Amino acid sequence: MNKSVRVRFAPSPTGYPHVGNIRTALFNWLFARHYGGSFIVRIEDTDVARKVKGAVEVILDSLCWLGLDWDEGPYFQSQRLELYREAAKRLISQGDAYYCYCSPQRLEEMRAEQVRRKQPPGYDRHCRNLSQKERAEKEAEGITPVVRFQTPLSGQTKFSDLIWGEVVFENDTIDDFVLLKSDGYPTYHLASVVDDHLMEITHVLRAEEWLSSTPRHRLLYQALGFEPPQFAHLPMILGADRAKLSKRHGAVSITEYREQGYLPEAMVNFLALLGWSLDDKTEILPEQELINSFSLERVSRTAAVFNRDKLNWMNGVYIRRLSVEDFTQRALPFLDSGLPPEVKRPLSIEYIRQIMPLIQERARTLAEVAELAQFFFVDKLDYAPSLLIGKSMSQELATQALETAKQRLGRLEVFDAESLEAMLRPLAVELGLKTGQLFGVLRVAVTGRTAAPPLFQTMSVLGKEQCLKRIETALDRLHRL
Ligand code: GLU
Repeated sequence: MNKSVRVRFAPSPTGYPHVGNIRTALFNWLFARHYGGSFIVRIEDTDVARKVKGAVEVILDSLCWLGLDWDEGPYFQSQRLELYREAAKRLISQGDAYYCYCSPQRLEEMRAEQVRRKQPPGYDRHCRNLSQKERAEKEAEGITPVVRFQTPLSGQTKFSDLIWGEVVFENDTIDDFVLLKSDGYPTYHLASVVDDHLMEITHVLRAEEWLSSTPRHRLLYQALGFEPPQFAHLPMILGADRAKLSKRHGAVSITEYREQGYLPEAMVNFLALLGWSLDDKTEILPEQELINSFSLERVSRTAAVFNRDKLNWMNGVYIRRLSVEDFTQRALPFLDSGLPPEVKRPLSIEYIRQIMPLIQERARTLAEVAELAQFFFVDKLDYAPSLLIGKSMSQELATQALETAKQRLGRLEVFDAESLEAMLRPLAVELGLKTGQLFGVLRVAVTGRTAAPPLFQTMSVLGKEQCLKRIETALDRLHRL
């Protein structure tokens, strides 16, 4: 790269950013960081009717959450209208663009007619050759025109895409598209080309769906006498069912992943692998490694598949890589909002600090933490009493095991994991039970579940009093079975 790299993320605030948008942002950011270039944010807010309130804030917030810091911007196209108007004027004076006075109604009829005749859609160039007089008449009628590009009627537009290679479009398949709308706002095509030029963008990395717009952009660059940037169109993202990723697949606003307890560092790693890979096997690539190894050569043309199970697995890996303190801090808000209301607030941070190492091993998301840790906090455990009677156990055996355990635990002076283990292992032998049988009934009695963090540590954190109380309740339930 002899010229310093300048890339941009150019979202339209027509909705909240989803996985696809953010994957585009991430690839641009990684590309900029890899080459020591600049990452620019540009808000393409020229579609006044489709603007969604609050979308800009959510877009920027999402970038911040993921740590995708930008070097310039955010620029807003709505504040740069004069620049696009000037470009449009220049194109008109050069004979590369023209005013079009067609009414929406006429355009609609034209479209219907094209459908009826099975013709390709596109403007029929009705206003392309209006005479001076005809134009003056339209103006006198008070019609505000749009400006259309005068697309060459023959020839080809070719360019080399960094991912797709040589791409060729026949010019006669490109209609005279609108540059400036009647409200004075530019279309995406005009604004994008003018800005990419003025902002000295060297590489346009964007979703594959824009590939068919690129010949129009190339024609505009040519007509305006601008040097075009290089283009790289990123592969589509599909859901697990191979349909284009949509809301149905959980392709909701990226901020919802934060609410569901995904870590930004896991999200970045996961998104980077949607269309890019280091090799055929490496999955865990923290940010710095992504920056070091990112390149367009390893971006594939094959659609990427969004796999929720993989995201959950990866998030679990990143959760286990956190220090206990970091994990605790991140889990706190989820505990606070996820534990039942009857649990007394504020939660005790000392108590939580003891619990979190046990949960960190098992949680795949921060949102799961409250559920996994709930039994540490609630007064009354909710479980089916039959769970107390494990495999090849009977009501009598379970009762006897709990009774004896209760007595011995009551006598135990030091209630830590080692002492508990040293006491409970031989007790199983004494009772003629397998350790799994004794530990199983104890686990259900003190946690209310059959699967929980390691038993001795769990009991030690719960404390003697709480364990005895829960065993008492369990015995009661067994009696009443
Ligand atoms: N505003 C377009 C979008 O929302 C940008 C496309 C491009 O990057 O050129 O995706």
